[in-house]
Amino acid sequence: MRCLRCPVAYHTGEMCVAAGSEMLTPTTTICTNHFSPKKGYSHHSHVNVSWCFVCSKGGQLLCCESCPAAFHPDCLNIAMPDGSWFCNDCRAGKKPKYRDIIWVKLGNYRWWPAEIHHPRNIPTNIQHLRHEIGEFPVFFFGSKDYFWTHQGRVFPYMEGDRGSRFQKTGIGKVFKNALLEAETRFKEIKMEREAKETQENNRKPPPYKYIKINKPCGRVQVYTADVSEIPKCNCKPTDEKPCGFESECLNRMLMYECHPQVCPNAERCCNQDFTKRHYPETKIIKTAGKGWGLVALRDIKKGEFVNEYIGELIDEEECRSRIKYYQENDITHFYMLTIDKVPSLV
Ligand SMILES: [Zn+2]
Ligand SMILES: [Zn+2]
Ligand SMILES: [Zn+2]
Ligand SMILES: [Zn+2]
Ligand SMILES: [Zn+2]
Repeated sequence: MRCLRCPVAYHTGEMCVAAGSEMLTPTTTICTNHFSPKKGYSHHSHVNVSWCFVCSKGGQLLCCESCPAAFHPDCLNIAMPDGSWFCNDCRAGKKPKYRDIIWVKLGNYRWWPAEIHHPRNIPTNIQHLRHEIGEFPVFFFGSKDYFWTHQGRVFPYMEGDRGSRFQKTGIGKVFKNALLEAETRFKEIKMEREAKETQENNRKPPPYKYIKINKPCGRVQVYTADVSEIPKCNCKPTDEKPCGFESECLNRMLMYECHPQVCPNAERCCNQDFTKRHYPETKIIKTAGKGWGLVALRDIKKGEFVNEYIGELIDEEECRSRIKYYQENDITHFYMLTIDKVPSLV
């Protein structure tokens, strides 16, 4: 989905989009960069924490102008910059997202743990509260209240936050409960996201490189046919589909491909599937028990050309060492072919 007003784009759905983006259609949005604080709305102002995000201590801090982050310049190994400054996360375009557990500052209250909810999932009376582009509803743990806020007043909850700087003596019961609830919910969402990620990863094949011609590895000799060696068929250019599947093309019968410079039908010849890479459409699938594979998206006639098998051309020595490696590492999904005149294809 794309922002109508700036180059910002997100994957469609709710996983990636910044909380508070105004959804116009499923693919168009006005992103949270267009939040403009209204004068006289104190909750629209931006607040920074009073401690350093690196060392947790106070002192003279460098404040991000977009989010509540603050740092000692020393802790970031930088000199105090002149003028406005944005933290790394903000410069990288990181934004709070739906279902993030965050710390939020409301009025004079302390930083409080909350969850960002999607406006669709909140009570209607909260939905109807006045809010601007860039504002999103948060659900406060402990008190179970909802409020609309924006990125200038929230920062991410991190693993272990309950026990760290927010654990003070004499904290109220509600806050204590809020901390416990936040921790539980944080773990829950983290596990959900991890499970989903594993699932996603399993649906994609491991990274591979798409190659169009065989790749010789090591000392392998690659043979290329000489045009003078390529047989010529007797098909006539007047045939409807010269050298085609239904024709009596000699080359085709002997399982040779015609060469555009040799075949009497030149460009009209229909026996150049390798040369022209005429493959049926295919898709990558996860097979049951046999790893990743390629299937054709249509039926293929008996004897019809399917695809060119391409891979690395390796010599005997390399072949042996690979087989040994596969055996030692329990890898069973590999294919080797021996091809004429050249050693092996993996
Ligand atoms: Zn935008
Ligand atoms: Zn510091
Ligand atoms: Zn920031
Ligand atoms: Zn022919
Ligand atoms: Zn031909």
